[in-house]
Amino acid sequence: MADCLFCKMLAGKIKPDVVYENDRIMAFRDINPQAPVHVLIIPKKHIATINDLHDTDTLLAGEIFIAAKKVAALTGIAESGYRTVMNCNADAGQSVFHIHLHVLGGRHLEWPPG
Ligand code: 5GP
Ligand code: ZN
Repeated sequence: MADCLFCKMLAGKIKPDVVYENDRIMAFRDINPQAPVHVLIIPKKHIATINDLHDTDTLLAGEIFIAAKKVAALTGIAESGYRTVMNCNADAGQSVFHIHLHVLGGRHLEWPPG
């Protein structure tokens, strides 16, 4: 998708701070971190929102969580704890319409979220 920020990163037009990558997903640090560790995990396939996931994306959706586990270990927050969040559409505050799993950790996180 030419006008998608995260597709531009995947195409190498914008260079994020990548912490983990494989053939199907990429994980990079959020530009406006909300915790000492704040990483975004994206599929290399453009999917705008959770609502646009298909049954054929089952494996890919699962891989995003396996990547979250790896990112947590790589960034040293696996044992202290972390939160994964995927916002969908306006009420959740989604601002980039290429699905991404937030991985947040390195401090105590309040619940419920605002
Ligand atoms: P959303 O609000 O859609 O759930 O999350 C989008 C996230 O993308 C935000 O946390 C925002 O800080 C991050 N973001 C927006 N633009 C950029 C960018 O150019 N680079 C990086 N690394 N993160 C970005
Ligand atoms: Zn995209």
